[in-house]
Amino acid sequence: MLSLDLPHSPSSPDLAQATRVLVVEDEDLIREMLVLALEEEGYEVVTASDGRVALTLFQDADTNEAQFPFNLLVLDLMLPQINGLDLCRLLRYQSNPVPILILSAKASETDRVLGLEVGADDYLTKPFSMRELVARCRALLRRQRFSCLPPAPVLQLRDIVLYPQECRVTVRGEEVNLSPKEFRLLELFISYPRRVWSRDQLIDQVWGPDFMGDTKTVDVHIRWLREKLELDPSQPEYLVTVRGFGYRFG
Ligand code: CA
Repeated sequence: MLSLDLPHSPSSPDLAQATRVLVVEDEDLIREMLVLALEEEGYEVVTASDGRVALTLFQDADTNEAQFPFNLLVLDLMLPQINGLDLCRLLRYQSNPVPILILSAKASETDRVLGLEVGADDYLTKPFSMRELVARCRALLRRQRFSCLPPAPVLQLRDIVLYPQECRVTVRGEEVNLSPKEFRLLELFISYPRRVWSRDQLIDQVWGPDFMGDTKTVDVHIRWLREKLELDPSQPEYLVTVRGFGYRFG
């Protein structure tokens, strides 16, 4: 049984949905400047001027299905009610994965380290330029989008299952250890079942065009792979030699 799904783009409704940023800052002037700069970027900005209100907003977004969660938190450290570090800690304790950019008047190394240790993703010291703030926000949102991409599909041919993102392979239900080159070879083969590959094509795809060794390297790696995948490596059922051409899988 062969299952091979091609990667697909993330569903579009998510892309259409506005990026929501929560700004938590008790100084009115800075808060207003942050709102202007972030709205100019096209983000939907929600504000809070103390830590407790911010926490309530997060809890509302969690429990109210109609409300989208925040995509980014811009967080001042010195805040009334609950300070920035504690809010950060609380959110992470609740397994909230929102990217957090900390703003602080404190420039010392320990504050920076502490901020990152309690689960912040980035740190900006006041005074900062709005351009830099916007650039940092963009970078955090890009990273978040990347981590939200749908997982690469699992590749399977009969008893062999390859998990591309976990760099893991199971054969007849058992985990096998492959070297990076063996893994890449198997990934290529299993992605194109029954396609015949010449040794040169395999070198190109797996070792890269700059590879200086000879094509015997391919044969050696095929032999190692067979020993790990085949019930009887001398009578291969998966990695088959196609005489005069090269190899095919399945
Ligand atoms: Ca403050």
